[in-house]
Amino acid sequence: MINARADVNQLLPLKYRWAWERYLAGCNNHWTEVAMQADIALWRSPGGLSHDERLMLKRNLGFFATAESLVANNLVLAVYRQLTNPECRQYLLRQAFEEAVHTHTFQYVCESLALNEGKLFNMYREVPSIADKDAWALQFTQALEDPDFHTGTVESDQRFLRDLIAFYVVFEGMWFYTGFAQILSLGRRNKMVGIAEQYQYILRDESIHLNFGIDVINQIKIENPHLWSEVFQREVRDMLAQGCELEIAYGRETMPRPMLGLSAESCEQYLRFVTDRRCVQLGLGALFGATENPFPWRSEVVDLQKEKNFFETRVTEYQTGVGLAWD
Ligand code: MN
Ligand code: FE
Repeated sequence: MINARADVNQLLPLKYRWAWERYLAGCNNHWTEVAMQADIALWRSPGGLSHDERLMLKRNLGFFATAESLVANNLVLAVYRQLTNPECRQYLLRQAFEEAVHTHTFQYVCESLALNEGKLFNMYREVPSIADKDAWALQFTQALEDPDFHTGTVESDQRFLRDLIAFYVVFEGMWFYTGFAQILSLGRRNKMVGIAEQYQYILRDESIHLNFGIDVINQIKIENPHLWSEVFQREVRDMLAQGCELEIAYGRETMPRPMLGLSAESCEQYLRFVTDRRCVQLGLGALFGATENPFPWRSEVVDLQKEKNFFETRVTEYQTGVGLAWD
């Protein structure tokens, strides 16, 4: 996975079939634009959403609008350079495209609802809990974007592992989850169904990103057990604890009062549950012992078949492999 001298241009024979499987899973999830008419009508109607719901929606979009770019830049400028296995790079190319689709989604929502784009896309500097999350993640990618950075020493290999953990596990595996719960709660109440449908597609993509990242980290651990020392494991647990705290603060700032069957407290409980799952996936002991998921409906809506019936929206299935005529 790291520090190999394999040929980066030769895909076959595959070394890691799981990476190729993740790539195929990503391709099978292809999706494009979703209808926004119902959302536009509701957004424009004065009593359509409460003040708190509007505040939540704007801050929610404000985080995601730039989050996808932060993830994409780390992927292309840091991860791609250090991960030299060809089938992993094939997946990274697919993921980079998906991150572009996600960023496009927020541009599309912003345009559809005629939101203040300068304000929305600048929230990562202006809303404290969003700025804190992004500043925390950026510290792990900055050193790697230096053209002189190379893996190959214990120190630099661990630095790369920290970047993978910060972005794949904390960013994509924990920080999107308050936001997903909020928007899916709107959708379950038949509000902003176009945005909710797009979040479901993004959520489906993100769960593959997360699982790919976990596989990469665990494979690096297997191949380089000396990197996964007791001290380093403690550090990773601290990172996840910090990520959890930052996300709890974001829950409070987006949701000062309970709404839509959610509250900052229930999101906090949910985040502890998610954090513990990530610890276990990395082979670490749970941080909180949070065994109960306060949002059991969340695992239900991840299944897209159920989602389609649930929201009764038009599903735009992208046609792949349809016959093209040559004449
Ligand atoms: Mn994304
Ligand atoms: Fe992602």
